Amino acid sequence: MLVPRARSDRSMDMSVRPALPPAGAAPAAPGLPRECDPRAGSLRAGRQPLAGGVGGAVARLGEFLRRHRGAVMAVQVIVVVFYVGMVTVPAFLPLPAMDARMRSSLTLIAQFLFWGLWWPFVILSIMLAGRLWCGVLCPEGALSEFASRYGLGRGIPRWLRWPGWPFVAFLGTTVYGQLVSVYDYPKPALLVLGGSTLAAMAVGFLYGRGKRVWCRHLCPVNGVFGLLARVAPVHFRVDRQLWESSTDARGAVNCAPLVDIRRMTGGAQCHMCGRCSGQRGAVTLALRTPGREVLELSRESVNPWEVRLLIFGVIGSAIGAFQWSASPWFVTVKQQVAEWAVSRELWWLLDTDAPWWVLTHYPQTADTFTWLDGLLILAYIGAAALIIGGWVWSWLQVAAACLPGRRSAYAARLAYTLIPIAGIGVFLGLSVLTVTMLAAEGVHLPGLAWARGLLLAAGAAWSAILGWRLLRAHPAPRAGFWLAFGALLAALAGVLVSWGLLFFVW
Ligand code: SF4
Repeated sequence: MLVPRARSDRSMDMSVRPALPPAGAAPAAPGLPRECDPRAGSLRAGRQPLAGGVGGAVARLGEFLRRHRGAVMAVQVIVVVFYVGMVTVPAFLPLPAMDARMRSSLTLIAQFLFWGLWWPFVILSIMLAGRLWCGVLCPEGALSEFASRYGLGRGIPRWLRWPGWPFVAFLGTTVYGQLVSVYDYPKPALLVLGGSTLAAMAVGFLYGRGKRVWCRHLCPVNGVFGLLARVAPVHFRVDRQLWESSTDARGAVNCAPLVDIRRMTGGAQCHMCGRCSGQRGAVTLALRTPGREVLELSRESVNPWEVRLLIFGVIGSAIGAFQWSASPWFVTVKQQVAEWAVSRELWWLLDTDAPWWVLTHYPQTADTFTWLDGLLILAYIGAAALIIGGWVWSWLQVAAACLPGRRSAYAARLAYTLIPIAGIGVFLGLSVLTVTMLAAEGVHLPGLAWARGLLLAAGAAWSAILGWRLLRAHPAPRAGFWLAFGALLAALAGVLVSWGLLFFVW
């Protein structure tokens, strides 16, 4: 996960079901002329007419995605061209002058579009619309799938299926992005994003046939996106009974991110590409209560790596990465360690001779990191991950201990209720760059502090409501319920205080 250095800008159940026949009803008879017509859309064999209303409109959107693959691919080509241009061209231009403005600098325009708008709003879009971004717009996924279509088609090796990759990749990109200031300079952006895209294409070329093996197993944001998609109010719903009873003889859908569609119960891995919409008359794009998937998560669906990523990555290390450059604690510790290094004549710690691809090194803008800076950034992010993540994890353990049953399993389930506050926090953290760049252009957003406060409060309330509902579903005595809920609120408070320091105190 790439996190910008904070600038001191202090300066219902809505799942309206389409009119599908009851389970076991016979599907539309194959062989009729209209059903055989591939242009006949949802009336093809095995597909059912869609209901009206909001639910029907959403279901039709899923059908639209399936029927208009050409349009989706055209959009992907446009996004790929835009992405390649935004990432590549600025890296070969001189750095903008200190007083440059967007109207006169392509580099600044690219920085704003890419990091100021694209990135934070991708996070928000996943919480609102699932991984539609991945399936329809992501250039890296599209290129990886394209390479896979013409590649070697090898089987996926076991090492690549290791479930800890999303956690490792997230931490790796978060930390490295801070060390090289990927958000601020085009060369590291090209190195990180371009390298990631090349790796995605190489993995696509080697493994799978028309698949997105990279996205499923190695993409640094796959884990985060999967978590955020779990609270989205829209998903591809699979009616297992209709699926089993369907006599639709059409072949299997090519699900690029390798989802077992028949057994799909959530949106974590689904890229919302729409290719399976209407499959066997059982798959429909549908609305649902935001966060319902978290409440209905089965014990088997709880993924310990996902929980670690959420608590120590998306909450702990991401907050550390957003905080360090605004933190007075960082400055104090740096001064003390620097004095100690001078007293011990450890001059190398204060050298600024690291190349730009190891540590930030731009003498022309007076922005160079010493080795001490690099070490302290690592230490700050690591400490934040352990302290904030440890705080959250400890209180979840306390909450689970107040309930009958297996403590660790229930603590992990409760962790998923923190997805909303984690996602909104990351959105706000990413939007710091947006606000700073707009301010440099003379655009000052009114009520910024209020907006941030309200969004954080909304995220916390959403998490608390999910926690409340999950705990209510647990057969616990009343006292146990209240103690567990109090512990969950304590976990949430730790997250809020950490964001509050960045946005309202420092
Ligand atoms: S399950 Fe697969 S094919 Fe279906 S919408 Fe999701 S990503 Fe596409």
